[in-house]
Amino acid sequence: MDPDEVVRLVEELKISTCHEEEQTLTIDTDALQIGEQRTGSCLVAKIFSPKAINREAVISHLPRILQAIKHIEICSVGDNLFILDFKSLQDRKQAFSGGPWNIFRNLIVFRELCGLQNVTAMNFDTMPIWIQCYNLPLVLMHKDFLQKLGSQLGDVEEIDTRENGFSMGKFARLRVRLDLRQPLKKHIRLKIQSGQEDVFVLLSYERLPDFCHNCGIIGHSFRDCENSWLEKGKLTYDSWLKAPLRGSGPKAKYPNSPPS
Ligand SMILES: [Zn+2]
Repeated sequence: MDPDEVVRLVEELKISTCHEEEQTLTIDTDALQIGEQRTGSCLVAKIFSPKAINREAVISHLPRILQAIKHIEICSVGDNLFILDFKSLQDRKQAFSGGPWNIFRNLIVFRELCGLQNVTAMNFDTMPIWIQCYNLPLVLMHKDFLQKLGSQLGDVEEIDTRENGFSMGKFARLRVRLDLRQPLKKHIRLKIQSGQEDVFVLLSYERLPDFCHNCGIIGHSFRDCENSWLEKGKLTYDSWLKAPLRGSGPKAKYPNSPPS
């Protein structure tokens, strides 16, 4: 049975008035604990693509992409949805905390299994990503301000500063949980209260997978874009949103004036 069909039937059962005598079973904590020990080595992976990716190809390529040292047992549980059982907890940690990963140019979003959560009903709308912030005045490259800056983009999970809470270098670096349903932001305008010119903080995303250069959303190409708020053919997003390797500076020059 298709996973979506299972979800639909269960929802119908919840709201229907049942005239039959139901068979019920109370779950004890032992049953949960045994299961949680077993699933502690697993992650659930969702591949962001409007098309169904070949399952065998995913199962074959994913361990190499994740740079796994030991074997990963991979099981398909729906379109672009997989359960990964890691033989090495270090491999699991690297897959979950590293990334973003992509396969065949499509983003992979990981979730941990938690309690009685149903794999097919999991939410994959957000994921953390490291963002490099350029053109930020050095005086503002401290943890308090970077927290405020990052909160304009999503939930801030980590700020890369030195022990004294300051960041020094060409850019500040934040790990922020982004809403994947929203377009990537290209910049943040800082309004300076003293009447000085506004500052444009330019954003560059590390390990950014392919995204739509029409609407800025990850998960489809501009050829498949169904968002109509921008005129097709006028692509406003460019590859400079993809951050270069750390320390090597942007590959492409930003425009003199950030786009509005
Ligand atoms: Zn689009």
